Amino acid sequence: MMMTTDMINWPEEKVQKLMGHYKEILSLLGEDPEREGLLKTPERVAKAMLTLTRGYDMDPKAVLNSAKFQEEYSQMVIVKDIDFFSLCEHHMLPFYGKAHVAYIPNGYITGLSKIARVVDIFSHRLQVQERMTLQIKECIQETLNPLGVMVVVEAKHMCMQMRGVEKQNSITTTSDFTGAFNQAKTREEFMNLIRNNR
Ligand SMILES: [Zn+2]
Repeated sequence: MMMTTDMINWPEEKVQKLMGHYKEILSLLGEDPEREGLLKTPERVAKAMLTLTRGYDMDPKAVLNSAKFQEEYSQMVIVKDIDFFSLCEHHMLPFYGKAHVAYIPNGYITGLSKIARVVDIFSHRLQVQERMTLQIKECIQETLNPLGVMVVVEAKHMCMQMRGVEKQNSITTTSDFTGAFNQAKTREEFMNLIRNNR
């Protein structure tokens, strides 16, 4: 069965309030919210926005702690090419791309899928790419306490591309790191590994 957003139990009061606002916005933009094609649009937009910002109600540290295992492995663990979709907090338009995460365990590891979940949670909030990069880093550092963590995010920003502020297809890259990744050699090892197979 296909999971659609219609099957999620939305907080009805929130949906109703958002619907009212989006109906008003349609009018202000010069549309007729009563025409057939737009009748269900405020409800759809309200539910879409609740989906795209669902990360506010989720605790990324709890996700990591739920799958935190003691392990002596102390080589670099890399999760690369994590697809993400977020909304920039300045225009509420999408920015999307890939996140790459590396950490060097210090007695504890986590499930690889949990790293992707952390990216998913932070990206489902209104964001700026720089802060999202930092939050992912801090969440992993504070929960797993590794010898080091590094996060690289590559994204396209629709708010720039659609408004013609930047050349089409330009990619913004941000990175942040702690501990062992302060050494250029360690950062290089990670960067070489995520550049492979491109
Ligand atoms: Zn923007």
